[in-house]
Amino acid sequence: LHVRYGGIAALSGISLSLRKGEIVALLGANGAGKSTCLRTISGLVRPHAGEIRLADKVIQGTAPEKISRDGVAHVPEHRRIFAPLSVADNLLLGAYPLGRRGRRSRIAERLKAVYELFPRLAERRQQLGGTLSGGEQQMLAIGRALMSEPRVLLLDEPSVGLAPRVVDAIMSTVKILRDTGLSILLVEQFAHSALEIADRAYVLRSGRVALEGSSAELSRDKRLVESYLGSAS
Ligand code: ATP
Repeated sequence: LHVRYGGIAALSGISLSLRKGEIVALLGANGAGKSTCLRTISGLVRPHAGEIRLADKVIQGTAPEKISRDGVAHVPEHRRIFAPLSVADNLLLGAYPLGRRGRRSRIAERLKAVYELFPRLAERRQQLGGTLSGGEQQMLAIGRALMSEPRVLLLDEPSVGLAPRVVDAIMSTVKILRDTGLSILLVEQFAHSALEIADRAYVLRSGRVALEGSSAELSRDKRLVESYLGSAS
């Protein structure tokens, strides 16, 4: 994939894959192109060149709402929940991409599943989104994405600004989701917690893949640190 913002290249020919039931971490320093990659997959940014396939279907150039109906859910950086709306209404908005067939019962099923996954959201279903703690807002952002019955979850820096204990809880939930067969592309700036749960990882540097491999291999690779410090060649 190649992506440009005006004259500036944000992604310069990256290739990556995500299999069913896999967590793949996308790591890299500030400005490496991680969020751009997620935004391109979900159709918010159009690539300059390259191809994105979901199963065997080419999806680049498709409208974001169609891509979400095809099963890609994006949890954006900074969560972007609807602050003046209740937890329950935020979740219902996440069901927007569901088709008409059996819509009511599917929404009820999804709500039940999200509340089981995040009991804190169930307790706070009438509370306004903007009054939730940072960790609860992250749960809500993930829960909202799950309402659309996705096959692929794009998670942009879920741990940002959260206490270590809350990050551990979120990461455990991400693992549970992987074990249900969901494919998860996890963007993180800090490699450690992501490599603990990911099966594989790619490290981006200035819009290119600087390193890739299994999490176990990358955790032992000294070039990982160099990549972040900008001294790898
Ligand atoms: P961070 O961890 O800081 O969010 P990132 O790895 O997610 O960084 P991106 O946000 O994808 O990086 O940005 C990649 C490059 O593209 C950066 O140089 C950034 O300044 C640039 N960029 C991102 N969004 C835009 C935009 N809307 N217009 C112009 N340039 C942009």
